[in-house]
Amino acid sequence: MDMQTELPPQAADPQQLAPASEKVSAALTDLKQAVRAKQAEAICTAYQQLKEANPSSAAAVRLTLATQAIGSAAVGIIVSAFAHRHCFMCQHGATPCRSCDGTGTLPGEDLSCPRCSGTGTRPCTFCNGTAWADAEMAPRELRRAVTQMQLGHVKEELRRATEILCTLKGKSLNTLPAKQRRSAVHWLRKIQARLADLSLRDELPAEQRGRLAEDAERMDVCIDRLTGF
Ligand SMILES: [Zn+2]
Ligand SMILES: [Zn+2]
Repeated sequence: MDMQTELPPQAADPQQLAPASEKVSAALTDLKQAVRAKQAEAICTAYQQLKEANPSSAAAVRLTLATQAIGSAAVGIIVSAFAHRHCFMCQHGATPCRSCDGTGTLPGEDLSCPRCSGTGTRPCTFCNGTAWADAEMAPRELRRAVTQMQLGHVKEELRRATEILCTLKGKSLNTLPAKQRRSAVHWLRKIQARLADLSLRDELPAEQRGRLAEDAERMDVCIDRLTGF
C-alpha cells in the first residue's frame, strides 16, 4: 500500500519544525526507543505525546518529525503499531464465561453451559470481541491507513479460517476434541467481530461495508456447527 496517498498533501513547514520544544524532543526520544524495542503500545503512546507536545502542528509536520527520528519507514511503523493495538480488557477478544466459570459446563452437571454454548468464554464487552483497541483512539491522520491494514489482516485470517474449516468438514465434528473445537470457535468469533467492526468504519465505502457485514453474518453458520457440545 502506498502510505503517501493516505497523508495530507501539504509539505511540512520548516518554520513549524524549527524550535523543537523539550516535550517534542522527549516524545521523539520515546518514539525511537519504542521502535527499537518493537513495542506497539509504546510507539502509539510516543506518537500521541508528539501530538500533545504541539497540538497546533499539522499532521504532516508530526510525520516529518517522526521520519527524521526513525527513518523513512516511520509512517508504516506507526500505522502498524496502531493497527495492532490491543484491547486492554481482554485476552484475544474473549473473557471467561461467568455462568460456568470458564469451564463450558454447568457445575455438577454434564450439560453445556447455555450462556457460552459450551465454549467457556464470552466476547469481551469492551472491544465487542475484536481484541482491538477502539479505532477512534488512532490519530485522525492515520485512521484510514490503520483501517486498510486491519482489513488486510482480517481478510487473510478469514481466508485461512475458511481453508481450515473445509478440511474439518470432511472429518466427523463429533470426534474433534472439545479443546480444539473451542479454540476454533474463539478464533472464528474474533474474525467475525472484526468484520462487524470494520463494517462500521466511516473510512470504507458503503458498498464494501455492506459486504463486510454480510461476511460477518455468514460466519454464524460455521460457528453454530462447532458449538453445541
Ligand atoms: Zn459458560
Ligand atoms: Zn476486549
